[in-house]
Amino acid sequence: MTSEALKISDPEIADAVDKEYIRQTDKLEMIASENIVSPAVMEVVGSVMTNKYAEGYPKRRYYGGCNFVDIAENLAIERAKELFSAKWANVQPHSGSQANQSAYFSLIDPLSGKGKKIPVMGLHLNHGGHLTHGSPVNLSGRMYDIHAYTLDSKTGRIDMDQVAALAREVKPRMIIAGASAYPRFWDFERFREIADEAGAFLVSDIAHFAGMVAVGLHPDPLPYSHIVTTTTHKTLRGPRGGMIMSNFEGGEILLAGIPTPKTVTEAVDSMVFPGVQGGPLMHVIAAKAVAFKEALQPSYKTYMEKVLENAKVLAEELMKYDFKLVSDGTDNHLMLLDLSNKGVTGKLAEKALEWSGITTNKNMVPGDKQSPFVTSGIRIGTPALTTRGMGVDEMKRIAAWIDAVIKDPENKEFRRSIRTEVKEMASSFPHFAWS
Ligand SMILES: *Cc1c(COP(=O)(O)O)cnc(C)c1O
Repeated sequence: MTSEALKISDPEIADAVDKEYIRQTDKLEMIASENIVSPAVMEVVGSVMTNKYAEGYPKRRYYGGCNFVDIAENLAIERAKELFSAKWANVQPHSGSQANQSAYFSLIDPLSGKGKKIPVMGLHLNHGGHLTHGSPVNLSGRMYDIHAYTLDSKTGRIDMDQVAALAREVKPRMIIAGASAYPRFWDFERFREIADEAGAFLVSDIAHFAGMVAVGLHPDPLPYSHIVTTTTHKTLRGPRGGMIMSNFEGGEILLAGIPTPKTVTEAVDSMVFPGVQGGPLMHVIAAKAVAFKEALQPSYKTYMEKVLENAKVLAEELMKYDFKLVSDGTDNHLMLLDLSNKGVTGKLAEKALEWSGITTNKNMVPGDKQSPFVTSGIRIGTPALTTRGMGVDEMKRIAAWIDAVIKDPENKEFRRSIRTEVKEMASSFPHFAWS
C-alpha cells in the first residue's frame, strides 16, 4: 500500500498504514458509519490541495492564489446542490460535529438567554441520538437546556405524539431530528409541524442516511428543515467531513430572538468561518466534489439499493437466529441488536466478533441497564461491505457467523476457525473493487 520512499523515510507510520490496509482488507467492516472511498477520492485527498490556505469563500478569500481551489469548492457546492436538490450548501465543515455546531450557533446564540440556557430538543444519546444532539459531555449539551425525546419502549420507534407533547411542554427554540443509531425513517414533515407550533427551528442531521436521501430512498428533509447537516464519509462514501444545506429562504427570521439583516444561510456561512473554523481543508473539499459526482451516477443509486437489501436480509436472518432487533427490523443501512436475551453484553459481543474478524461497535439500546462502556447492544451496518461487492449470500453467511460467535463468545478455538473462514471470504472481495 505505502511507497518504498515512505517505508524508508518513516517506517513506523508506513507500517501502521500498511497494517490498517490489511485489517480493512481481511476483516468484515460492519461499523455502520464507515465506508470505503474510491481511488479517485483517495487521490484527491492526498493531493497538493492540502498545501493551500483559503480562508473565506470562493471569490471572497483572505489569501492570494486561490483560483484553482475556488474551482474545486464551487464544483463541490454545485454538485452538492444538484445531489440533494438544495438551493444552498456550505461544504467547508471539517466534520459532522462542526457542521452541527455551526448550524446551532447561527440559529440560536447560546449567550442570548442572558444566563438562562435556551431550551432545545434532540434524540437521547442512549436511544440512538448523536453526542452533538445535546449530550452533557458535548458543547451542545453544555450550551443549551436540552430536553431529550426518546424511543417508545414497546415499538422501539420515535413516537411523534410524545415529541409533540414534549415540545408543548418545554417550548424549545430548536429541535434536532436525526440520529446515529436509529434504523427507521424520519418523519420530517411532522417534525416541522411540531417545530412551527413551538416557534422552533428544525435542524435535520442526516449524517448517517444522507446517501439514501440523495437517491430518494429516504424521506427528504430539505423541504421541511431550516437547516440540514450531514457528514460526507458515511453512506455518502466521500472523504471525512461535514456539509450544511438549506432550502429555507426566510430573510425575516429573528436569530436568537434578535432581529437580524442576515438570512439563515448568510448566518451559517459566517458561523462556519470565521465563527467555528479557520482555513478550509481544500484537499478534502475537492475530494467531496469527486464523491458527489460519483453519487450523481446511476451506479450510486444501485449501490444504495444494495446496501438496503443487504441490511434487510441480514436483519431477517438475525431474527431467525432469535436476535432481538430494536424496532424489529430496519428501513435503512443499519440495525441495532439488543443482546439482553442472549446473556451477552455489547462490550463482550464487540470483542468476540472483532476477534473473529467482524468489526462492529457496542451500542446502548432503549432501557439499557448497562453503562455506556458495557452496553447491551451492538450496531451493525452494511455500507462498507456492499461497497466491496458483497450481497445477499454473504449476508446470510455473516448472520450465521454472528450467531455462532454470540452463542459461545469466550471459545477461542472456535473463534479462530471462524476467523479463518471470514478471512477467506473477505479476501475474495477486493478493497477497491468498485468503479
Ligand atoms: C457521525 C455523526 C455526526 C458527527 O460526525 P463527525 O464527522 O464524526 O464529527 C453528527 N451527527 C450524526 C447523527 C452522526 O451520526
